[in-house]
Amino acid sequence: MSPIRTAQLMDGAALARRVVDEAAVRAAEFARRTGSGPCLATVLVGEDPASATYVRMKRARCAKAGIRSRHVGLPATTTTAELVDTLAALSADPDVHGILLQHPCGPHIDERAAFEAVDPAKDVDGVTLHSFAAMSFARPGFVSCTPGGIMRLLKEYDVELSGRHAVVVGRSAILGKPAGMLLLAEDATVTYCHSRTVDLPAIVREADVLIAAVGRPRLIRGEDVKPGAVVIDAGYNPGNVGDVDFDAALTRARLITPVPGGVGPMTIAVLLAQTVDAAEQQLGGA
Ligand code: NAP
Repeated sequence: MSPIRTAQLMDGAALARRVVDEAAVRAAEFARRTGSGPCLATVLVGEDPASATYVRMKRARCAKAGIRSRHVGLPATTTTAELVDTLAALSADPDVHGILLQHPCGPHIDERAAFEAVDPAKDVDGVTLHSFAAMSFARPGFVSCTPGGIMRLLKEYDVELSGRHAVVVGRSAILGKPAGMLLLAEDATVTYCHSRTVDLPAIVREADVLIAAVGRPRLIRGEDVKPGAVVIDAGYNPGNVGDVDFDAALTRARLITPVPGGVGPMTIAVLLAQTVDAAEQQLGGA
């Protein structure tokens, strides 16, 4: 028997299309003013097929939105120092407006050192310590793309955050941690959960807004979703399965993101929008 459905789906695919369309309009205006479109530099170390696919997808979306991309493919043997030099050169190049270092870069690379070679003005993937600090102090700056996409989804669906209990399951540098920082900046009361958390279900049951960012299929049981909660499932596991037991959560949540078609499409959309933001800001400051 299929469950009684109560939750409204949060359509990340539709919102992402709108965000990209807006970025494309601004990219065209930028090109009209300067003679060429905004430019995103993509840097890939090695030949990991999944990473290469991600970069290809991002470049293809850029092209559709009128954003140029310049790809720098480096051999797997690249050292941290060589990668830092490459990123510093792109940071200094006035024809490059945004920089994306596809990661993970491999165990021999000091990724933090590499990220810090990206000029914060071009950090459209939100990976530098400068961007993290700006995020945590609610100052202007570039945000991590997936958390940025989550915040846009919450805004799109008029989710009240002030004073609400937001529970973020996962604390990675690219997802859980910045998502919590952005929610805090909107005056939510934020609880982080992670692999050492004791009694995760009890904390999940208290969540008005639940962000699942773990990478464990159906870790969050539907019965633990607070009735009327807003559920954002950023998890993406083999077989198009999220971190939340979607069918069961549907019967309790007020709003929920599907997997796929929820958070996923927002990540690239935010990357594109931030690349155009960076180009406009650099033009404004020129
Ligand atoms: P990650 O770096 O592996 O981090 C996973 C986090 O989950 C860690 O903080 C870990 O805790 C926590 N965790 C692991 N097991 C747990 C458990 N049993 N209970 C509670 N917390 C637990 O992963 P990530 O890069 O943040 O990605 C998370 C998920 O989001 C993945 O499915 C990934 O595919 C997806 N993702 C989607 C997008 C998108 O565009 N839609 C983008 C990025 C990631 P510790 O810190 O204690 O180890």
